[in-house]
Amino acid sequence: MSQSVFVADLTWVEYNARVSSGKTIVFLPVGALEQHGPHMAMNPDVLIPTAISARVAERVDGLVVPAISYGYKSQQKSGGGNHMPGTTSLDGHTLTLTVRDILKELARHGVRRIVMMNGHFENSMFLVEGVDLAIRELRWDGITDFNVVLLSYWNFVLNDTIKAIYSDDFPGWDFEHGGVLETSLMLELHPQLVQMEKVADHPPPQFPPYDFFPIKPEWTPPSGTLSSAKAASAEKGRLLLQVCVDGIAEAVSRAF
Ligand SMILES: [Zn+2]
Repeated sequence: MSQSVFVADLTWVEYNARVSSGKTIVFLPVGALEQHGPHMAMNPDVLIPTAISARVAERVDGLVVPAISYGYKSQQKSGGGNHMPGTTSLDGHTLTLTVRDILKELARHGVRRIVMMNGHFENSMFLVEGVDLAIRELRWDGITDFNVVLLSYWNFVLNDTIKAIYSDDFPGWDFEHGGVLETSLMLELHPQLVQMEKVADHPPPQFPPYDFFPIKPEWTPPSGTLSSAKAASAEKGRLLLQVCVDGIAEAVSRAF
């Protein structure tokens, strides 16, 4: 019997034994393939929620299905913009229907408790829509006990931790693209994917209070990051990981 929390490591027989009762909580990380500056690999939005999901799953005796590794289009004021090389995105309805399809398949297996863990801000409302369509269509099939917790992991980083990590320099989550939060977590989880000597150390860009389409590429700093990751460290990453895992484990236990 495999002890792995990752569904992809299990045989169907092992998986079936775990999920058919409907009690096991199944985690679905959702990320993006998106540039994160010259200093970091392009999939922290997948790797970070996958790592948090695995740690929380160990605590609550849950399982983790493979992440949705592509996300909705990067926006200039939160992700640098979809014009950047490497950033590879889905149309909104593609993401919505991907979420719907995966949830309905999990429901067919007997899963009734899902935690969707978002790692890419731009995905947010398309995940809501995918969940909504899945629940609506499952109801047509007579399944009325399918529940989903939808969360973005950074919302579990509360004020005390923000103060400890940033002192008084917190730029806001919008500007945290490739910044201290993501870079610190990656230094803790996957240090081989970070090159601190290549961090672009510039102040956050000044955006107007509106979006403009087609976008103006000159609004985005040439680095692609929206705040400096210079102050990132594995130690901060460890603290961030701990508060996210603790907070999410507690929230999930309460929700189910
Ligand atoms: Zn990111």
